[in-house]
Amino acid sequence: MDALIKPIRPSKPSDKQVDRPAELDPAEFLAAAVRADQPRPARAEAEQAVKTLLAYIGENTDREGLLDTPRRVVEAFDELYQGYHQCPAEVLDRTFGETAGYDDFVLVRDIEFTSQCEHHMMPFYGKAHIAYTPVERVVGLSKLARLTDIFARRLQTQEHLTAQIAAAIDEILKPRGVAVLVEAEHTCMSVRGVAKHGAMTFTSRFTGMFRDNPAEQARFLSLVRGSQR
Ligand SMILES: [Zn+2]
Repeated sequence: MDALIKPIRPSKPSDKQVDRPAELDPAEFLAAAVRADQPRPARAEAEQAVKTLLAYIGENTDREGLLDTPRRVVEAFDELYQGYHQCPAEVLDRTFGETAGYDDFVLVRDIEFTSQCEHHMMPFYGKAHIAYTPVERVVGLSKLARLTDIFARRLQTQEHLTAQIAAAIDEILKPRGVAVLVEAEHTCMSVRGVAKHGAMTFTSRFTGMFRDNPAEQARFLSLVRGSQR
């Protein structure tokens, strides 16, 4: 069996300046995850799969209330998972090249999102707070919300979502640093499993000056927290 264990992408010790977790593949956070020409099952097959699940839970798939359900579920999937077809790099590419002497971080807080957990395909939702300190490239503020949505509209773990947002901004804007805090409630934990409502999960990722300077992290966190009083 040993021979079947694939090596995880080796981390290159020489790559010290690369400021992202080794498990993050730029191909997945910079490009659309699905190529336009990538072979996928037909829509009819997807609808059939929904019908199978309905039969599995014990439903009569021919009763009137359920006749259009497979089509609706697949349409909902198209919407919830549109992030696979969108390109994060494109969103951040249109930048303003002029910081006009601005040298502090830019913070956009309370970016609401809904994503789907990759373990149960159940929603988790909450807010992302994103700061970056521009060197010369600045993006329109709505772009950080757009970026969050692209990653959120894919199957995710909250940790991965957080790291991908930070890595994409780092890679494309090349700022002095990025800070991302994500807070979310997971329905796979609130309506099933341990069934604890209201439990919030927090994840963060700091790069560059935020990673290196705890005082900057603290300033970021207090500005984010300040919004919720
Ligand atoms: Zn889950």
